[in-house]
Amino acid sequence: MPPPVFRFAPSPNGYLHLGHAYSALLNANLARQANGRLLLRIEDIDATRCRPEFEAAIYEDLHWLGLAWETPVRRQSDHFASYRAALDRLSARGLIYQSFESRAEIARMVAERDANTPWPRDPDGAPLYPGTAKQLSAREREALMKSGAPCALRLDMAAALASAGDLDWTEEGEGPGGEDGRVRAQPEAWGDVVIGRKDTPASYHLAVVVDDALQGVTDVVRGQDLFWATSVHRLLQRLLDLPAPRYRHHALVRDAAGAKLSKSTRATGLRELRAEGVSPAVVRRRIGL
Ligand code: GLU
Repeated sequence: MPPPVFRFAPSPNGYLHLGHAYSALLNANLARQANGRLLLRIEDIDATRCRPEFEAAIYEDLHWLGLAWETPVRRQSDHFASYRAALDRLSARGLIYQSFESRAEIARMVAERDANTPWPRDPDGAPLYPGTAKQLSAREREALMKSGAPCALRLDMAAALASAGDLDWTEEGEGPGGEDGRVRAQPEAWGDVVIGRKDTPASYHLAVVVDDALQGVTDVVRGQDLFWATSVHRLLQRLLDLPAPRYRHHALVRDAAGAKLSKSTRATGLRELRAEGVSPAVVRRRIGL
């Protein structure tokens, strides 16, 4: 049996905090216990928010914590061709379409409908896309493409579900799993989710699924905030004929007031703690690892 493969996959859009330390150390512990491998992946497809200095800080902070990982590290921005190839496969099967509304326009359209009955939201609280662009004629679509309007590539959820059938996943962490550790995937809760853009042929969902398969990841260990994103990941894995890893969604580290940590809260930033003279051993104790 090949060794299990774990990965820690931060986005370099800010400095790491105690929550990242927990996720990274948990991955490392589980990999060690299972005689497995640990990969680090830099998830930097969002060029507007990711910066090289944050990437450099990730390496520095993780080394400081005492972590080691395999090299070379996969950086997603180096692999847009892989994500484009996956999009092309979905497109060839008629499972994606272009939409041209900005987020504000979608909010406005939804507000009008909301007046009568509450409009459905996705698990992150964003309104589901009303599907308006599906009604465009080929000529209208062409004109919008030429006009330079923002263009998002969306999964046609109804068509995708009809093609994929029922899906579930193995959950080893905490969360609404069944007795047997199986969770029924509910990708429909996300509606026609964005999986790519005209200029950036990828989205978090698409890139993570392509990379986990390409890197042979067997165990995805990440925060509970991504629990329901796994529904979309299972759907994309089925549509793209990719294997399903095991999942373990861990509880999030919270601040003293019980709030989720953010990359901008300095009190729990690894760099700040280090500057104050806090040792890696104290960080580990504080997060219980
Ligand atoms: N890049 C994601 C984040 O920093 C994590 C992705 C994952 O673990 O699947 O939140």
